[in-house]
Amino acid sequence: MVDVLMATHSHSSLERFEKCPLAYRMRYIDRIRDRLGESLEQHLGKCVHSTLEWIHLRVHDGILPLWAEILDDFLKRYDGGWTDSIRLVHTDRTRESYRLVGERCLRNYFEANTPFDEGSLVGAEWDFRFPISRADGSPLVTGKVDRITRLAPGRLQVHDYKTSSFVPARHELERSRQPALYVMAIRRAYPDAASGRVELVWHYLNSGIMIRFDMTTGGLERIRRQTEELIETVQACTDFPARPTRLCAWCEYGHLCPENEYREKVRASLDGEREPEPGIDLVDRLERLTSLRREFEKSFREEKARIERTIASHASEQGVNSVLGTRMEAVVTDGAKVRLRRKR
Ligand code: SF4
Repeated sequence: MVDVLMATHSHSSLERFEKCPLAYRMRYIDRIRDRLGESLEQHLGKCVHSTLEWIHLRVHDGILPLWAEILDDFLKRYDGGWTDSIRLVHTDRTRESYRLVGERCLRNYFEANTPFDEGSLVGAEWDFRFPISRADGSPLVTGKVDRITRLAPGRLQVHDYKTSSFVPARHELERSRQPALYVMAIRRAYPDAASGRVELVWHYLNSGIMIRFDMTTGGLERIRRQTEELIETVQACTDFPARPTRLCAWCEYGHLCPENEYREKVRASLDGEREPEPGIDLVDRLERLTSLRREFEKSFREEKARIERTIASHASEQGVNSVLGTRMEAVVTDGAKVRLRRKR
């Protein structure tokens, strides 16, 4: 029996559940990732984040790092921390190609932010944990903020670094859970932020795009409620169904997923490499039936409209409002609308 009552939840765990409950179960309940080891993407993200933390700690100590030193720090982490157990989830990516991605991310950040003097450092890689509601025994939300800076008393900034190439629109960020949870955590931890302003700065390092935004009090409360409801759903879940989508291509548990195993069986069956898979014929028959129904419905609509037009013009020719059949009559209104009713 799987213990589904997790004590804490993070934005990442909740997002994983929303996308695929089975992947959530493998990651957060069965803890399979702990056994699989780090992926290349995780290694890259960890090294870039560590170098960015190193930059800001140096600046906080009054030392402005040069680009060559930043690159050197990253390479030491990336190559020095390399082990053969790091997993390559995507066969079209290599250790070298990801190293170049890391270098580009840091170079973009360096060029956009040097001399790193916007605000003073409050925290880097700051861990938080808070109850999502005021109720006794409320589930806890946890997370890690990449960097917090203070621009002035009561004016804090939250920075988040992304290494993936996807960049969302600002309005999506303003409604999203991750920054909202960060603001909630910071408002609880820093008294001057409780009633002050918490600005959000999301760094899309790979493309060199920085998005600055704020969250409204109403928006925060809406996301808090949604998060509370989602946590209740997660905690009540017992079956953790697989939810295959195009994101499966990025799933680190693909090799353990019954959906993928089944797909491979069907592929082999379609290629004639194994016996026919009975589901193929069933789905093909259902597809044909659905297609026939669509064709029938189209013909039905066209024929009905043609007959109604003819009835309306026949009624007009006869100078009547009803055209009589054997058992029913067709009542014509507004010169064109036709309705069947039992004959008087
Ligand atoms: S491969 Fe797809 S369906 Fe299977 S666990 Fe991963 S995300 Fe879920």
